[in-house]
Amino acid sequence: MGRVVALANQKGGVGKTTTAVNLGAALAEQGRRVLLVDMDPQGGLAVGLGYNPYELEPTVYNLLLEEGMKPRDVIMATSVAGMDLVPSNIDLSAAELVLVSEVAREQALLRSLSPARDEYDFILLDCPPSLGLLTVNALTAADGVMVPVACEFYALRGLALLTRTITKVRERLNPGLKVDGVLATMFDGRTLHGREVLERLKEAFPGELFESVVPRTVRFQEAPVTGKPILEYAPDSPGAEAYRQVAREFLERVDGGKFRNP
Ligand code: ADP
Ligand code: MG
Repeated sequence: MGRVVALANQKGGVGKTTTAVNLGAALAEQGRRVLLVDMDPQGGLAVGLGYNPYELEPTVYNLLLEEGMKPRDVIMATSVAGMDLVPSNIDLSAAELVLVSEVAREQALLRSLSPARDEYDFILLDCPPSLGLLTVNALTAADGVMVPVACEFYALRGLALLTRTITKVRERLNPGLKVDGVLATMFDGRTLHGREVLERLKEAFPGELFESVVPRTVRFQEAPVTGKPILEYAPDSPGAEAYRQVAREFLERVDGGKFRNP
């Protein structure tokens, strides 16, 4: 059975979508079968992989809410061999409202995704920038959660709330949920500020912070415009190499079973 990993942080612009695309591509490069699932109504995964989300139908919205929909009905191929996509678009923003009145509303994704678990080694869930029902669905469906954090002044603010949400989901909905790690992104080692934030993250998340750090580079902004992961757009760039390292470290952690609940 594949491992389901939620990429969560209620702050926007911290690198969740970029991490989903590029960690996914790096895992696929290493021969793993990867499925990316977009849980953000902004549809960033489809955009980053060269699709126009507004033209897509069916999407994860249909998978979550329509009786009889199977993952295979909504899975699309991507330019990366071994990496598939369940896209989303603005339709998904309605799902949050519809789900509220459903029985077992937090388990909708867990239920609808389960047939896909045998087909992939890793299923990465790209969460929206909120702690609402879509993120709770992702945390309930996940085996592990990975938290991308941008190396900037406000990075640590809000992480306590995210940690409390993870703890609540573990207590009430998903006892097996593990923290697969905290990933520092957008690191600018030339500035004292960047280095200080990284030190703070090391203190705050000993053992959880990935040793690999993703540098801040304009390549990450350019890549989505081409509809490709940075691993394809600029395969030899430091950014691409960083995500390969993250993938190696991630595999060591989850395969080595080092990560247990606190
Ligand atoms: P989120 O999904 O958390 O909202 P994104 O992955 O969409 O964040 O990233 C927000 C913006 O920052 C995007 O324009 C993206 O291209 C850019 N970005 C992501 N990671 C980096 C990085 N390491 N260096 C520079 N820009 C980055
Ligand atoms: Mg995003």
